[in-house]
Amino acid sequence: MSEFNITLIPGDGIGPEIVNGAVTVLDAVSKKYNHKFNYTEVYMGGCAIDKYGVPLPDETVEICKKSDSVLLGAVGGPKWDSVPSEKRPEKGLLGIRKALGLYSNLRPSILKPQLKDASPLKDEKLENGLDVMVVRELTGGIYFGERKKADDGSWASDEEKYSVEEIQRIGKIAFETAMLRNKRVVSVDKANVLESSRLWRKTMTELSQQYPEVELTHMYVDNAAMQLAINPAQFDVIVTSNIFGDILSDLSSAIAGSIGMLPSASLGATKCGMYEPIHGSAPDIAGQDIANPIATIVSAAMMLEMSFGLSEEAKAINNAVDKVLDMNYRTADIMSDGMTKVGCKKMAELIAENI
Ligand code: NAD
Repeated sequence: MSEFNITLIPGDGIGPEIVNGAVTVLDAVSKKYNHKFNYTEVYMGGCAIDKYGVPLPDETVEICKKSDSVLLGAVGGPKWDSVPSEKRPEKGLLGIRKALGLYSNLRPSILKPQLKDASPLKDEKLENGLDVMVVRELTGGIYFGERKKADDGSWASDEEKYSVEEIQRIGKIAFETAMLRNKRVVSVDKANVLESSRLWRKTMTELSQQYPEVELTHMYVDNAAMQLAINPAQFDVIVTSNIFGDILSDLSSAIAGSIGMLPSASLGATKCGMYEPIHGSAPDIAGQDIANPIATIVSAAMMLEMSFGLSEEAKAINNAVDKVLDMNYRTADIMSDGMTKVGCKKMAELIAENI
């Protein structure tokens, strides 16, 4: 029997519902495979602002740091849109990534055959499928660069800055991820315009010497967006900066169908990662038991595999998701003719029953 301490951050909006769903499935895994998962629930985001006056209480950081991994729902919502920018729920998210040293975000986008109709692309663009891993740098670049604005409001600026070390460590994750996949990395930048991108490209090229089995190519970000839309099957691993990764990973997710299906992992130098769906807190559907919990459930599967080394258990979750989709159960966001519509709780229970 193995024992793991998992910090749960349900957050806001649909967060609590989808995290509950993931716990239902994790409980089924622990029962079947005889593991013990100890859960500690903490506050972050809007709910933390309401309770403690800050989006990321120190206690949350301490508990996360002591755990084996963190499972997050989502944070934010219209209720907190008017709070000052340094106190917004999203600050909690940026803060916890920084505090845990989570400098990489891995987002797999796989088009499931059962959900081909949910993709906005035409069938002919999808005939070779889609199975791409976007590796996004998470704690540097323009989201963390120096911000300035004129006192009179006439201008504002944000700085995009990367060090060689920051580029090397994210590159390493991308090359190592590719070694476990199809051994192809596309590094995305804007080296025709940006100095920081020229350093990015040079550093990736140098790093690639250490991975002779992996084919490295470079692509400008505007072309990468176009290529994802016209021929998504060409990609295996994409590695890119914080802002470009934010945008491209949403695009690759949209191609794969509903945002409610897609997981992500944020990792740093240790095994303790943070796992979360790629979507937000969906305030428009919160509290109605209609959210799709699958993105959070498969995020939990990534946690088992990447942080706990439980590959078989992770596979059992992914197989159970496929089985329930094959049985034609769908939440509202992926519903189509002839399918049986179920709510968030029921979907999680069905997946748990099929572990
Ligand atoms: P969103 O991802 O929350 O929602 C976009 C659309 O997708 C909505 O129509 C929503 O109902 C739907 N959707 C999202 N997840 C779904 C699910 N699991 N099942 C079914 N439908 C789902 O994005 P948004 O509306 O731009 O943002 C809402 C709030 O979430 C904002 O406050 C934003 O800042 C925050 N946000 C948080 C995170 C995070 O915590 N990681 C990420 C993105 C946005």
